[in-house]
Amino acid sequence: PYDVLVVGGGPAGASSAIYASRKGIRTGIVAERFGGQVLDTLSIENFVSVKATEGPKLAQALEEHVKEYNIDVMDLQRAKRLEKKDLVEIELENGAVLKSKTVIISTGARWRNINVPGEHELKNKGVAYCPHCDGPLYEGKDVAVIGGGNSGIEAAIDLAGIVKHVTVVEFAPEIKADQVLQNRLYSLPNVTVITNAATKEITGTDNVNGLTYTDRDTGEEHHIELQGVFVQIGLVPNTEWLEGTLERSKMGEIIVDKHGATSIPGVFAAGDCTDSAYNQIIISMGSGATAALGAFDYLIRN
Ligand code: FAD
Repeated sequence: PYDVLVVGGGPAGASSAIYASRKGIRTGIVAERFGGQVLDTLSIENFVSVKATEGPKLAQALEEHVKEYNIDVMDLQRAKRLEKKDLVEIELENGAVLKSKTVIISTGARWRNINVPGEHELKNKGVAYCPHCDGPLYEGKDVAVIGGGNSGIEAAIDLAGIVKHVTVVEFAPEIKADQVLQNRLYSLPNVTVITNAATKEITGTDNVNGLTYTDRDTGEEHHIELQGVFVQIGLVPNTEWLEGTLERSKMGEIIVDKHGATSIPGVFAAGDCTDSAYNQIIISMGSGATAALGAFDYLIRN
C-alpha cells in the first residue's frame, strides 16, 4: 500500500505529493486531469514570486516538479469511491482499487456555468469567472457580473474599483447578497443593477461585445454592450463521489481542521474541494502542504 495517496492533480494535489514524497514515504497521485483548473486559465499574475505566467505553463511546471520525485503518477484516472477499512481504499472508475495508509483529497471545484450560447465559445475571451484573477484585464472597460448573491456582489464591488462600469444581472426579483454588501454596492457611482433578468446569450465573435437578457416581467429582450462578463453563480466542489462518507458542508465542501484532517481518521483534504475561505492557486498549494504534513504526523503516531 501507499503511505500517502493523493486524489487530484491540481495545485493542491501537486503540492501535497511533493511534500509527502520529501519525507521519504511511499506516495502516489491519481488525477483525472493533471493541472486542474490551472489548465483553463490564461494569464496568472498573482502567483507570488512569478510576475506573470500562463495556466498551461504553470500546469507543466507542476508536473515537472512532481516528476523530480519518486511519486507514482496515475493521470487520466477518476476516483469514484472511498472506503475506510484498515487502510483507506480508493476505487477508480476503471475498477482498480488503490490502498493507502492515508489519503489526501484535492479534487478541486468547478465554476457553475450559466449554459447560455456564447459562454463556452467566449471563455477567456471576455467570459471570466475569477475577479481576483482577471479583474485587472478589464481596466477601463464595461463589464457585467451575472449573479446577485454574495460572490456576485463582492465581485461587482471589487471590479467597480478597476473597470469603467459594472452591470449586475440577477435572475431573481431582488439581490440576495448580505445587506452590508448591497449598501456598499449601491454607494458606488459606476454600478447598475438589473433584476428579474434572464441572461439569454453572451454575444461576440472573437471577443465578448455584449449580453442579451430577457426582462422576466415584460418578456422584452434587451442587449447591453460590454467587453467582459463575470459569471458568479457559484462554485461547485468536486466531492459528489464522497457522498455518505466524510463530513461536508451543505455546499458540499469537505470540512477540514487546521491540519487538513477530515472527519475520517487518516483522510485529509486540501484546496478548493474544502471549506477554505478563498480559492486561489497560492492558497491551494499552502493547504496541500498542510495536508501532507498532517498526514505525515498521523503516520508517525499510528
Ligand atoms: P483544481 O485545480 O480544481 O484541481 C483538481 C484536480 O482534481 C484536477 O486534477 C482534477 O482533474 C482532479 N479531480 C477531480 N475529480 C476527481 C476524481 N473524482 N478523481 C480523480 N481526480 C479528480 N487562481 C489564482 O490564484 N490565480 C489566477 O489567476 C486564477 N485564475 C483562474 C482562472 C480560471 C478560469 C479558473 C477556473 C480558476 C482560476 N483560479 C486562479 C483559481 C485556481 O485555479 C484554483 O483555486 C486552483 O486551481 C485550485 O486548486 P486545487 O488543486 O484545489 O483544485
